[in-house]
Amino acid sequence: MINSEYLSKAQDMLEKKHSELKRVEKERRAEILRKFPEYEVLEEKLAKTVGDLVSMIISKSGNTAVTINKIKQENLDIQKQMNDILVNNGYDSDYLKPIYFCPICKDAGIADGDWCSCIKNAALKLATQDLNQSGMLYTFGDFDLSLYSDKIDPEIGCSPREAMKNNLDDCLKFVKDFNGTGRGLFMIGATGLGKTHLSLSIANELLRKGYSVVYNSVPELVRILNSEQFGKTEGDTLQVIDNCDLLILDDLGAEHSTEYSTSLVYMLINSRLSKNKPIIASTNLDMNGIKARYQDRIWSRLFSMRVLLFCGTDNRIKTANNR
Ligand SMILES: [Zn+2]
Repeated sequence: MINSEYLSKAQDMLEKKHSELKRVEKERRAEILRKFPEYEVLEEKLAKTVGDLVSMIISKSGNTAVTINKIKQENLDIQKQMNDILVNNGYDSDYLKPIYFCPICKDAGIADGDWCSCIKNAALKLATQDLNQSGMLYTFGDFDLSLYSDKIDPEIGCSPREAMKNNLDDCLKFVKDFNGTGRGLFMIGATGLGKTHLSLSIANELLRKGYSVVYNSVPELVRILNSEQFGKTEGDTLQVIDNCDLLILDDLGAEHSTEYSTSLVYMLINSRLSKNKPIIASTNLDMNGIKARYQDRIWSRLFSMRVLLFCGTDNRIKTANNR
């Protein structure tokens, strides 16, 4: 379950939206009655047919079946006349029907004995915003390729600038194609070369598109989850990170290497990838470091994602990216 604090905030939001819609309904009805007073007369007639029908059924007098059918027909005729008033004057025939923010739960917030998806999604978005209050200032527009050398590096077979241009393009494509499913990206490279900058730029764009994104460093997540799991603090971080549209795991490999942290990292990655939900993972370790640090089952999953190698040595890059 998502933290109850977020759920109650989400309920408040739904109630506000619902009462706003009820206000719109009232305004619409007032508008129609003002323009077409005959509509109200028909409403009264319609109510009378319902009343007649009820008393017919209760009294069971006379030729019931025939009379009931006659009243039903009258009821339908009146409904048609009311509909005609709307449609013939350019209104949608649903114009006076109740409007709901959420058609699934009709704004009750509960469906099938559980919180409705509208509440869960809103709560998840609130939780996401809270988890993301750090470093949301990065954008693709600030990413300065000119800081990377254009001299060919024989080790990578191209210039760092060209390699980074490809990484930037991959990140832009990731945002463009994003739909909440798929494998994700694995960013590898020394500290300060722009991994955080690009992953937070992706986060920024997707949050603006209305997706839920959770960003955190792996050491911090291990600390939070450890403390929640052993009851020292209250929270549902695991639920939030398992259900968000995109999970960004920064600084993979910087967590204390313990059996607990390793199994947690495996669980996080495996749970997302097996549900085809994307991750962006980044690490300062190099290829050999990753293989030495994690068992096959972890690194094989990491390398099943699109791998972006970050390169460059210029200190100006580090200054720009660590601002
Ligand atoms: Zn709902």
